[in-house]
Amino acid sequence: AVSRVPLIAGNWKMNLDHLQAIAFVQKLAWSLADAKHDFAAVEVAVFPPFTDLRSVQTLVAADKLPLAYGGQDLSAQDSGAYTGEIPGGFLKQLDCGYVIIGHSERRTMHAETDEVVAAKVQAALRHDLVPIICVGETAEDLEEHGPSAVPVAQLKAALAGVSSAADIVVAYEPVWAIGSGQAATPEQAEQVAAALRATLAETLGEDVAAKTRILYGGSVKAANIAGFMREPNVDGALVGGASLDIDEFSSIARFQ
Ligand code: PEP
Repeated sequence: AVSRVPLIAGNWKMNLDHLQAIAFVQKLAWSLADAKHDFAAVEVAVFPPFTDLRSVQTLVAADKLPLAYGGQDLSAQDSGAYTGEIPGGFLKQLDCGYVIIGHSERRTMHAETDEVVAAKVQAALRHDLVPIICVGETAEDLEEHGPSAVPVAQLKAALAGVSSAADIVVAYEPVWAIGSGQAATPEQAEQVAAALRATLAETLGEDVAAKTRILYGGSVKAANIAGFMREPNVDGALVGGASLDIDEFSSIARFQ
């Protein structure tokens, strides 16, 4: 809200190959330009699969597109015998600005613990990538512990070893709202975002808490984005399904 530049981030997950990515990013840039999108006022970023990143880099550089992009994950290691892993250095070489860390799909399907998430945050920061640290509770967590306990604990764990000079983004993504069509209410998102900001203040200081962007994610669409963006502690959105539709994602970037 106040002095923070909102960020609208599209997590493509395992969709759009490198040829589709080129067409998509080009059309997205046209759509936003057509709508006279002010990129200085609202940052827009896409998170394609790893194999698309070289193509996206080439297009963004050639056409000087004002879009940011990054990886959906990275390795906690920098190089070596880690079959199938991608290190932060390789993402940085492709001019990635951001990397998503600890998405609930990684936590549940790839058994990523809070310790792994913390190590990946360190890896991102070593390579000058801004980590988008995802936290969020399941429906069972919500029932058992209330709305903020699990996301706050996950954030504290992810920040182990992070200095107050670090540039980070936090994404609050209730697991029950991801891909379910059942978004949190703006009030629910605000309540947890405020708790996460208080956690940032406690662990990294008031200045970091004031400047760090906290995104909401979970069934965000053009039809509900405006409500989230009116909340003082919500500074943008991490968008899954709706980021694969150019007109929809372009509308979300304009909060309409
Ligand atoms: C996500 O996976 O980060 C997400 C928010 O997905 P969706 O928007 O599809 O709920």
